[in-house]
Amino acid sequence: MKKHNFSAGPSILPETVMKQASAAVQELDGIGLSLIEISHRSKEFIAIMDRAQKLALELTGLEGKGYQALFLQGGASTQFLMTAMNLMKSKAGYINTGAWSDKAIKEAKRYGEVIEIASSKEKNFNYIPKGVKIPADLDYLHITTNNTIFGTQFHALPQTEVPLIADMSSDIFSRELDYAAFDLFYAGAQKNMGPAGTTLVIVKDSLLEKMNDDVPSMMSYAIHAAKGSMFNTPPVFPVYTSMLTLEWLKNQGGIKAIQKHNETKAKLVYDEIDRNTAFVGFAAKEDRSYMNATFNLAEGIDGAAFDALWTAADISGIKGHRDVGGYRASIYNALPLKSVQLLVDIMQKFEKTL
Ligand SMILES: *Cc1c(COP(=O)(O)O)cnc(C)c1O
Repeated sequence: MKKHNFSAGPSILPETVMKQASAAVQELDGIGLSLIEISHRSKEFIAIMDRAQKLALELTGLEGKGYQALFLQGGASTQFLMTAMNLMKSKAGYINTGAWSDKAIKEAKRYGEVIEIASSKEKNFNYIPKGVKIPADLDYLHITTNNTIFGTQFHALPQTEVPLIADMSSDIFSRELDYAAFDLFYAGAQKNMGPAGTTLVIVKDSLLEKMNDDVPSMMSYAIHAAKGSMFNTPPVFPVYTSMLTLEWLKNQGGIKAIQKHNETKAKLVYDEIDRNTAFVGFAAKEDRSYMNATFNLAEGIDGAAFDALWTAADISGIKGHRDVGGYRASIYNALPLKSVQLLVDIMQKFEKTL
């Protein structure tokens, strides 16, 4: 029996995707060879890469709108430096909403001046700064749309004329968003799309044209784009599995349908956090994430009995990050409603023991 997987990342993938991906490791679509034993330049793999790129653009509504989807390596952490290497001419703006933004800032500082436009650090990143004035002379503005550790999420995008860049690692494909407002966004696969090992980058053609050209080949978006994400050997298994998840998402009714499902799950867990006297929510209510619900024990409550209850119920992965403590229920696209219902039942059971 599989456990109820609330892991923040790597995290749960759809059951059908897991089955198809495992089968393809043995043999891909009856071709007599494994997915991971064939050339990435075979017609079979080229079709997989094309399909994955097409689905990424289609699902975000960017197909035919002058964007390209790239499947790269090195995780979101490599994007922290690639964005700056390719786009920084003199200075860039960052909104600091947590540990991942902090890391992006640290890397960008190697390539130019970083202006921290706003930060929620003074409150341990429990909210999203709003009404922020963005200077017009920046090379770009970088935000982290969902803050996996702190459980906050941008529900309105900052208004700006400068290129908008986003780390969407933990909420890509989870909600309808004006994806065309972004000039470039990226996501490590392992939260909402596939296994670790590939990073999706969606970039506007007009931005590609303006990028710095003194960039090492492997770090150059322009080169990866010109080569269709095949400049070197792509991570074939993560790309294939991501393609399967995107296909699954399309069959679910796409982003519109999954957003509804995600809202139902988030409401269930947040309503319980607010109702239950044993817990307090961590993030400011208006900035709560629909992907990672963070909550702590109320003052004076000992959580040992709660830990025993959820462990016995085959719930996995709800221990909070060390920066926040308490608990974090990650409720990504593939997590079924019944897992969230079970968590809520356990929270209620615990309250009754007090
Ligand atoms: C997990 C995560 C990262 C780190 O991704 P890697 O692929 O491990 O480099 C970066 N940003 C956010 C928002 C994340 O959730």
